[in-house]
Amino acid sequence: MSSIDNLPPLREVIARHELRAKKQLGQNFLLDLNLTSKIARQAGDLSQCDILEIGPGPGGLTRGLLAEGARRVLAIEKDARALPALEEIAQAYPGRLQVINGDALAIDPLEHLTPPIRVAANLPYNIGTELLIRWLTPPQWPPFWQSLTLMFQKEVAERIVARPGSKAYGRLALLAQWRSDARIVMTLPPEAFVPAPSIHSAVVHLTALPEPRFPADPAVLSQITAAGFNQRRKMLRASLRGLHPQIEGLLEQVDIAPTARAEEIDLERFCALARALKEARKAG
Ligand code: SAM
Repeated sequence: MSSIDNLPPLREVIARHELRAKKQLGQNFLLDLNLTSKIARQAGDLSQCDILEIGPGPGGLTRGLLAEGARRVLAIEKDARALPALEEIAQAYPGRLQVINGDALAIDPLEHLTPPIRVAANLPYNIGTELLIRWLTPPQWPPFWQSLTLMFQKEVAERIVARPGSKAYGRLALLAQWRSDARIVMTLPPEAFVPAPSIHSAVVHLTALPEPRFPADPAVLSQITAAGFNQRRKMLRASLRGLHPQIEGLLEQVDIAPTARAEEIDLERFCALARALKEARKAG
C-alpha cells in the first residue's frame, strides 16, 4: 500500500510506542492512511485553515489532515503515551502541528488557533456528544468554527441528521440543524478500526450557517425541546404544560395541534412556538 507521507506505517508506530488501545479512553484507531486522507478531504480545502483535532491517538487522521494540506493542526490528546508518535509527525511537518496533552473538555483551544478554523476528529465515543453540543451552543453565533467533520457511532450520526417523524429525531437533530447544515458523508464498518468496535461508525460533516435557519431565542427553544422530547410519547399540551398556563392556545396560534407529539414537529414550528412563548411571557 502506498503511503501518504514518508513516516512509518501506523501498525509499526503503535508497536514501537506500545500504544495498546485502552477502552476507558474510547480508543479505536484508524490505521489505513488512505482512509484517514479520505476523511480529511471531507473537511474541504484545509490550506487556508487551522484545524482543531480532538484525540489524535497515534496520529492517523492527523497525518491525513497534514498530507491533505492543512495550514496548521492543533491536536489535543489525553493519553500521554501517544506523544512520542505525535512528535515524530510534528518533526515531519515543521511548524504545522501543535500537540497539547490534556483533556479536551477542560482546554480552551481558541487561545492556540487563528481563524478560519475547522474541526476534524475521530472522537472518543464517551465525550463525542458532549463536545458536539458545546460546539453547537456557543455564547454567540456564528461560532469559532466554519465546519465540523466528526466520526461518531452510526446511531449518534443518525440522530444528528434525523428528520421529523423518525425514531432518531430529537433534541440533537434540532440543535444541529437549527444553525448548521448536517450530512452523513461516510459510513465505516467495525473492521476499519483497531480494535474493531461492535457497531458501525459514520462521519458527519456540519457547516455553520451565518444565521439561524429560523429566528428563536436559544434558551426558550432549548426549554421547549427539552420538555417535549423528555416525554416524547406524550401529547405536547401535556409535556409542555409547565412552560406556560396558556400553552394550548400558544400551540394553536402557531398551527401545532395540541394533541401532536414532539417527534412530529419540524424545526420551523418549534422556532415559531419559541417566539410565541417568549412574547406571551413578556406580555404576561
Ligand atoms: N484519531 C485517532 C484515530 O483516528 O485513530 C484516535 C481516535 S480514538 C477513537 C479517540 C482518541 O481520543 C484516543 O486517542 C483517546 O486517547 C483520546 N481521548 C479520549 N478522551 C479524551 C479527552 N477527554 N481529551 C482528549 N483526548 C481524548
